[in-house]
Amino acid sequence: MTELSSWAQIGYLVAAVLFILGLKGLSHPRTAVRGNLYGSTGMLLAVVVTLFDRAIIDLRMLAIGLAIGAVLGVLIALRVEMTSMPELVALFNGFGGIASVLVATASAIEAVGRGTATLQLNVAAAATVVIGAVTFTGSLIAFGKLRELITGRSISFPGLQALNVVLFGSCLVLGALTVIQPEQTLWLWILIALAGLLGVLVVIPVGGADMPVVIALLNSYSGLAAAATGFVLSNSLLIIAGSLVGASGLILTQIMCKAMNRSLMNVLLGKGQAAGGDTASADEVYAGKVKATSADEIAILLETAQRVVIVPGYGLAVAQAQHAVRDLTQTLERAGATVEFAIHPVAGRMPGHMNVLLAEAEIPYEQLKEMAEINPTFEQVDVAIVLGANDVVNPIARQDPTSPIAGMPILDVDKARTVVVIKRSLSPGFAGIPNPLFAADNALMFFADGKQAVIDINKAIQEAS
Ligand code: NDP
Repeated sequence: MTELSSWAQIGYLVAAVLFILGLKGLSHPRTAVRGNLYGSTGMLLAVVVTLFDRAIIDLRMLAIGLAIGAVLGVLIALRVEMTSMPELVALFNGFGGIASVLVATASAIEAVGRGTATLQLNVAAAATVVIGAVTFTGSLIAFGKLRELITGRSISFPGLQALNVVLFGSCLVLGALTVIQPEQTLWLWILIALAGLLGVLVVIPVGGADMPVVIALLNSYSGLAAAATGFVLSNSLLIIAGSLVGASGLILTQIMCKAMNRSLMNVLLGKGQAAGGDTASADEVYAGKVKATSADEIAILLETAQRVVIVPGYGLAVAQAQHAVRDLTQTLERAGATVEFAIHPVAGRMPGHMNVLLAEAEIPYEQLKEMAEINPTFEQVDVAIVLGANDVVNPIARQDPTSPIAGMPILDVDKARTVVVIKRSLSPGFAGIPNPLFAADNALMFFADGKQAVIDINKAIQEAS
């Protein structure tokens, strides 16, 4: 491995500091933009240093890779909808994993050919291909689930967990073999195949509403794979950046587990996930009990409301209703009402999804209330408006221990005096189960697209006043 020049090492050090400052900044909405800037400056510096330190890179090969990556990146960025970002993130985690596998495999085989394989390189290469391959195939499954190419429900079969244990054990044995006999590259290929299979089998049993935990975990794995690749290449910046992603991903996983009231082990084993069929059917839950309403009726309700809480969910992102919501909020506030937003930690399809959308519409951060803060106060709420949210307000989580979302803390909107639910139909949310809230005595359903509904309500209030 060629040594870095000292200016390149200083450049890497500065980049690492910028990454850390970036992460620190991203931990709070107020400093997030600055944090993002630090992080991207760090990345730019890392790329520039790597580019110009000719000791480490063949510029022609790099240009070809850069061109292919840039074309693909631009094409994807132009085509992807905002609501598909989480799927893209899942895919990017997977790309990170496969990139690590390719680099480690190429380096290991090259080192064997040159007779320069060291214990560090062999151990790091084995670790990289295992973590990277699990990340790659696991992320592809997560992508398929989010995009609904495969069912979002838990897929399991008898003996799955035992098979996973056997596969994991086989990976350890093969990993040891690749270290002991690096010249037998067949071990490495078998190791990649088995780890890839393990990635698929670990993610398929995760279903219902537990995907956020797995996505955070795969994000962490992609960082760990990059860190292990750093040891293969003896690249300190890759080790630091990978460790930062690995550690922050693990912290996020822990936060998600806490938000879902799940242990990581139970999520990964698919425990508490009804495979389907044993929850009440939509007909049983809704028949004859759902009350539809209109924009005019909601306007009358809101005219006398003192305290209004809006609960945004994935449907707000689909409808891109955030700007219309800000306008409605301002109308209500002008009429003297207090308006707050109840934010569930897994609302939408990625951590912080709702915060990002509401910030885009410049809704003041102070109006956003976390679940623990707002839940005890729902009984004093005159009107709760559920806008494109479903699983995160489903009281079945409290009531039915066999439900896929059993035990998940929800926003207790059903305790508000009146609940207005805006969505297009009675279709279920991500967890695929009916929601008894829609049939509750104090609930009114406004069947419409989220953005149009909010515009119509706002108009109806203004016309009435
Ligand atoms: P849900 O997925 O439970 O429900 C969204 C609802 O939005 C649907 O029922 C849909 O009903 C409605 N909707 C869709 N489009 C529109 C539209 N244009 N206008 C109005 N409504 C619309 O969303 P929640 O936010 O409540 O819950 C998030 C779920 O996603 C949880 O189960 C969570 O675990 C999971 N998840 C979260 C991730 C995260 O990190 N936050 C990552 C992966 C999964 P209809 O079709 O009738 O309109």
